[in-house]
Amino acid sequence: MKISIRMDDITPDMDWKKFLRFKELCDLYQIKPLIGVVPDNQDGNLHIDTAESTLAENFWRYIKSLQNEGWCVAQHGVTHVYTTKKMGCFPLNRLSEFAGTGYENQYAALKYGRDILLSHGIETEIFMAPAHSFDCNTIKALRKLGFSKMTDGFGERPYLWRGIIFYPISYRQNSCLKKNSGYTTFVVHSNTMNDKDFERYEKLFAKYKDRLISYAELMVIEAHKRGVLEKTAEYAMALTKYILVSGKRIFKNPKKEF
Ligand SMILES: [Zn+2]
Repeated sequence: MKISIRMDDITPDMDWKKFLRFKELCDLYQIKPLIGVVPDNQDGNLHIDTAESTLAENFWRYIKSLQNEGWCVAQHGVTHVYTTKKMGCFPLNRLSEFAGTGYENQYAALKYGRDILLSHGIETEIFMAPAHSFDCNTIKALRKLGFSKMTDGFGERPYLWRGIIFYPISYRQNSCLKKNSGYTTFVVHSNTMNDKDFERYEKLFAKYKDRLISYAELMVIEAHKRGVLEKTAEYAMALTKYILVSGKRIFKNPKKEF
């Protein structure tokens, strides 16, 4: 499969050292990922590099410059605070900023987030749901606000569902690397990566450099309409992954987001 990268949890006080280390790797292989920017981060787990710095001060200008260079920007939720324990349409986590909060609330929140990005000159039609969690009202509100793309779902190529083009993420990275055809996205949380994780990506990028594509290249791939059966299979896969991952998480890191 061709591999694109998305980087989650981009905020003014993210772990800049780790973000820049991963960016260096992307630059080396000349790939431009999708970055999920939180418009109004209020999630305590994402306040990491809180020291005053020129990077944090110039955050929005820096994001704009990445976008001008060809990096893709997604709106990653609004505050990134989980308000419900609903799983939504893609049940990878039992917590959500949006699922179950109703159309009106979601529309108002998503608009508030979108307007923050716009006030910094950042326009995007791509949405990245925190914890991969959203419901049909989220989709409806996103459409109304002019969003046309989401980075979520499972599959081998982009698909159209409820008026939104979904760009699937990898179910398991290793099995994606074994397949020769199709497209997927690897989800990267640079904030929580350790040296071993970086080394793994360094080796992976070197070995599979011909498979790596920029997110903009993924977005020109034609999307096919997804039917009910495929959608049901995707739901079952996500739920299975949730059960497997949550079993391990209890022992390892209960706060870590997939
Ligand atoms: Zn996130």
